[in-house]
Amino acid sequence: MRSQRRPSEIFLVAFVPGSTIGILGGGQLGRMMALAAAQLGYRCHIFDPHERPCAAEVSADFTRAEFDDEEALRRFAAECDVITYEFENLPVGPLRELSGKLKPGLKSLAVAQDRGDEKTFLESAGAKVTPWRAVNSIEDVQSAVSSLGLPIVLKTRRYGYDGKGQAWIRSPEEAEKAWDAIGKEPAVAEAGVDFEAEFSVVIARDEDGNMAPFPLTRNRHLDGILRTSTVPAGPQIEKLAEEAVASAKAIAEALDHIGVLTVEFFASSTGPLVNEIAPRVHNSGHWTIEGAQTSQFEQHLRAILGLPLGDSGMVAGGAIMDNLIGNDVDRWAEFVTKPGRHLHLYGKGEARPGRKMGHVTRLT
Ligand code: AMP
Repeated sequence: MRSQRRPSEIFLVAFVPGSTIGILGGGQLGRMMALAAAQLGYRCHIFDPHERPCAAEVSADFTRAEFDDEEALRRFAAECDVITYEFENLPVGPLRELSGKLKPGLKSLAVAQDRGDEKTFLESAGAKVTPWRAVNSIEDVQSAVSSLGLPIVLKTRRYGYDGKGQAWIRSPEEAEKAWDAIGKEPAVAEAGVDFEAEFSVVIARDEDGNMAPFPLTRNRHLDGILRTSTVPAGPQIEKLAEEAVASAKAIAEALDHIGVLTVEFFASSTGPLVNEIAPRVHNSGHWTIEGAQTSQFEQHLRAILGLPLGDSGMVAGGAIMDNLIGNDVDRWAEFVTKPGRHLHLYGKGEARPGRKMGHVTRLT
């Protein structure tokens, strides 16, 4: 339902409320996107291979099928007005069945799926990354150790997330063990960055090329998993804001990205270095639900629906978001009791170690 008719003199080319948004992936990002869509009067249809994905519980429709099931994708496309994704490890080929309804487009998805292609693309877009090499054999790993110096980190090119598929090499003897640890998969070898801090820029871009970055967010990780995001990010990071936001904009532009894009950075002594990008809403943007004038989820929907981008400024002096990982979720009663704590539980069932079960935000 794409309409140009709006009340009185306001003229928009947009999908009107009541339209159906398809979301590939049924995790917590899809769930929070569906909640934001419901607020604006849109319907969501989740596509996911699992039995009871947590996004489907808050959405109008659910298709349970594998992501490479072309027949199911064709049917799904016929039932949706616009389609987006909440995670990037989707097979690109079958998504051509979505008949041009996919936003962001396939380029954003393909680039973010392969750490080697991603780094090549980032460099071509003018972003700075830590020195790296593609590695396909133990000999390649050994030559990367010689050329990059130590420490280095091996990361599988595909299907890595939250620190999975990664192994550090701190002495030449560790090279073989690290190569075994990542399953001898095609990988990148990255020079270890002696960073002062990590941060992200979550930015939205619409079809006309308008862009709206959220304030820089400082991120603290433990065991490769995000634990806490803080805004304002602090002076050490904010002095890099101009360069980092310019990089994020150049990346979004080069991808012709429509929707929210997240760029994760290291704050290093040589300036902001891009660690990786996610062509989607991101855990480090969850604070925007209560802390920004427009949440990252609403902003993403605005971009893909053809609505004007909202105000990405903050509503308070600052915000702190803590992830509830594994058993942390058992503390829910404490958070729901304390004033000023905004508790989000994802309804995911079993609290396995390392599993993101919810988050808590407080405004400061
Ligand atoms: P990633 O999955 O690439 O985001 O890596 C997870 C975490 O590992 C990052 O957030 C950093 O804390 C750390 N890390 C990854 N790559 C590097 C690197 N080249 N140098 C230093 N730390 C890194």
